[in-house]
Amino acid sequence: MTTLTEIIDIINQAKTIAIMGHKYPDGDSFGSLFALGTYLENIGKKVTYYCDNRDIKPYFQFIFPVKKLKYAKFKPSKFDLLIAVDSSSPNRLGIHEDSFTKHKNTLVIDHHIQQEQWSKYIYFDEKRASNCENVYSLLTIANAEITPDIATYLYLGVSSDTGSFKHYNTNQNCFTVASKLLEYGADIHKVNDYLYRYYTSSQIQTEKFILNNLVINSNFAYVIITMKDLDEMRANKGDVSMHSDKLISFAGIDLGIIATETKPNYFDLSMRSSEKVNVQEIAVKNGGGGHKRAAGCNYEGTKEDLIKFINQLFMEIKL
Ligand code: 5GP
Ligand code: MN
Repeated sequence: MTTLTEIIDIINQAKTIAIMGHKYPDGDSFGSLFALGTYLENIGKKVTYYCDNRDIKPYFQFIFPVKKLKYAKFKPSKFDLLIAVDSSSPNRLGIHEDSFTKHKNTLVIDHHIQQEQWSKYIYFDEKRASNCENVYSLLTIANAEITPDIATYLYLGVSSDTGSFKHYNTNQNCFTVASKLLEYGADIHKVNDYLYRYYTSSQIQTEKFILNNLVINSNFAYVIITMKDLDEMRANKGDVSMHSDKLISFAGIDLGIIATETKPNYFDLSMRSSEKVNVQEIAVKNGGGGHKRAAGCNYEGTKEDLIKFINQLFMEIKL
């Protein structure tokens, strides 16, 4: 594995850098992307930000400089170095997967266990609750100036991947880093307002849908949201994903799955579990990834097939 000190050297040698995170970006993906990107710009690098543009949460525009993002596919040869953050496999990069894997000088900085060496350089620390903590370590080793903007981006990542310091991945490092980021001027109130206080109408619609359509099967729960359902609610996957923790917040539930149809007969499964179930194992077995208590994978098939698949899963791990 490449060390953070080696990464600083790799970055120093590049002039033009493209940086990207995973599709359906969450707070940690954008936090890592914009914190690292802003630092790179501040030290004089020419930085281009890429993102698979599907379903970006609308409130991100009030915190991150999303106007900088480019969505179209790009020629990898335009850049000296490509960096992917918060992504555990090439398919997480969505439409930019090909450009990334074709480039010779690529770097991954992540907090998910990496299943394969899919980039020339890989740094990952799966003990970190958020990838923003890894970016913070990198910036500290690089003696970077952590501006209030960078501090806010990083704080958002730590806060969102720990569910505001509530999930079981929350540890001492989260608080140490958060405290440092406050010192550097992170706007924690703005983060809290957009992440946890103001819900848009489509977010409320999706929450109502999840509660109304929840299927409980002993200590397991799931809900399926089709493209038609999303259409009727004028909602997208970004609105759904903020409710991923909902099912596991009910007493007695050990595994919760929210399946969202993102293409016809193609579902994104967002899984959450108690300490009794390891969803990372389930996700990896089905071509996905993530963490022990929060992981995801895809399922191709009809809604009826998916219900059978989920029930089969429940049977296999019956506690
Ligand atoms: P979420 O349910 O919030 O979308 O994702 C939970 C965790 O699982 C995150 O760390 C996310 O990166 C990971 N994850 C979600 N879906 C996938 C997937 O399809 N493939 C992989 N490799 N990881 C996923
Ligand atoms: Mn993350």
